[in-house]
Amino acid sequence: MRQPGRHFLQIPGPSPVPDRILRAIDMPVIDHRGPGFADLGNRVLSGIQGIFKTRQPVIIYPSSGTGAWEAALVNTVSRGDKVLMVETGHFASLWQKLALKLGLQPEVIETDWRRGADPQIIEAALREDKNHSIKALCVVHNETSTGCTSRIKEVRKAMDAAGHPALLLVDTISGLASADFCFDDWGVDVAISGSQKGLMLPPGLSFNAVSAKALEANANADLPNSYWQWSEMIEANQRGYFPYTPATNMLFGLAEAIDMLNEEGLDNVFARHQRHAAATRCAVEAWGMEVQCVVDSEHSPVLTAVRVPDGTDADQLRSVILNHCDTSLGNGLSKVQGKVFRIGHLGDINDVTLLGTLSGIEMGLHLAEAPHQSGGAQAALDYLKSTRTSNVKAA
Ligand SMILES: *Cc1c(COP(=O)(O)O)cnc(C)c1O
Repeated sequence: MRQPGRHFLQIPGPSPVPDRILRAIDMPVIDHRGPGFADLGNRVLSGIQGIFKTRQPVIIYPSSGTGAWEAALVNTVSRGDKVLMVETGHFASLWQKLALKLGLQPEVIETDWRRGADPQIIEAALREDKNHSIKALCVVHNETSTGCTSRIKEVRKAMDAAGHPALLLVDTISGLASADFCFDDWGVDVAISGSQKGLMLPPGLSFNAVSAKALEANANADLPNSYWQWSEMIEANQRGYFPYTPATNMLFGLAEAIDMLNEEGLDNVFARHQRHAAATRCAVEAWGMEVQCVVDSEHSPVLTAVRVPDGTDADQLRSVILNHCDTSLGNGLSKVQGKVFRIGHLGDINDVTLLGTLSGIEMGLHLAEAPHQSGGAQAALDYLKSTRTSNVKAA
């Protein structure tokens, strides 16, 4: 049956693609070796550095985020190397599995999936590694399965305090362009991202931002790789080109996305996400429910994972919300399957989109007869009314 109106794609990625980006992508394909291509290549390659807040090279792959995870490892470490990985949730555990398949030895710091990576525990683990056999520390900036962020700047400080030379590899696939990320200032060595989350693009592009230290490590890394090789990319990128066919039309979209982010201003983008996350937590609290993240300073601006009351199946609730309100929410992954649902508030979202989403959820809670109090959407509205936004002009 036809569903009138727009579908609400409120999963924590892919996020809704703005019409402006869809129109930018809807162009004839151009010759990626032709003389005009370098304008586009140079524009996106320098523009994306601003989004990562870096002067270092950023590599753009035609792949999902998973490819850029693999690229970060195969370019920096060698077979049998130890890598320290913090299991903040489902995505961190997938990265760990990938590392195992590559023949690395992940040493895992476990968590209860309700907080970010703990810099103190990391420091202690690195101090214990006296002969520096750990070659890289892998942390997820925004754990999309739990709605918890890790304090990357403090993680770097912990590594420095331990005096450990491991590289810092950070997955900011869902964090970038929704949550503040400062590649250079925070001392990240490789940052991994994807197109379909904060960058508001369809799925299909991924990124590696690469520090000078990571480039040095690259010279000695011996895991087999070809497609993911940084050196060929960086060489071709210097002239605005790519060593193999890039996802040309996605690059048109990326150029537009970068313009949009800069027009709004990154600080305004981050403040908007923080405010929407806070409004969402007001709704959850008013419903009498709990968010998955238990650390105040680690609530994600990207998404909110909500724990449903015992006896309620989160997936059944999500299907009621989808069927009655045409609104897609994220499911609970692995350990928290059926126990949480995830509200995406990343990318191109405004107050009214968020209120529509929260109203749809409240309607679904009612229709599914899940134990809750009404008034969550109202609580979010009250919060939004009471908080000024920097991009609202006086009438
Ligand atoms: C989405 C996501 C991934 C996986 O990216 P794909 O594009 O699906 O390969 C990895 N890590 C995090 C934190 C994510 O949010």
